[in-house]
Amino acid sequence: MGYAYDDQNIFARILRGEIPNDTVLETEASLAFRDIAPQAPVHILVIPKGAYVSYDHFAADASDAEIADYTRAIGLVCRQEEIDLGTGGDGYRVISNAGAYGLQEVPHLHVHILGGRTLGPMLAR
Ligand code: 5GP
Repeated sequence: MGYAYDDQNIFARILRGEIPNDTVLETEASLAFRDIAPQAPVHILVIPKGAYVSYDHFAADASDAEIADYTRAIGLVCRQEEIDLGTGGDGYRVISNAGAYGLQEVPHLHVHILGGRTLGPMLAR
């Protein structure tokens, strides 16, 4: 077992500058950019710059500095988009899909930050 990272995945290519992206925040260890097919008025993807497939991979192998950077980057994006609760925003949802059952399309860890409207039930039934 273990984690097999495909360095040809689309987010790896974005990180290498091979594909353009609409960046909203870049930190030492993380990049946030707008989803190409937004499902809400705010739909931003946040990825670590390191080669991690999934949240569990990141949690197992990333350094404390990478984890702190990534966690804070997610919060900073919410603040920047004015959807955070600290400054009276209307809220948001953070989702990270993993693997077959999670219907993950791109095998590089990302969270979706969704907001700007009421998002409805958490899961379709
Ligand atoms: P997943 O299903 O893996 O959680 O979500 C992958 C997301 O990446 C989808 O929401 C999809 O719209 C987005 N996406 C796929 N290719 C690109 C791309 O080239 N650029 C950007 N900005 N988003 C992408």
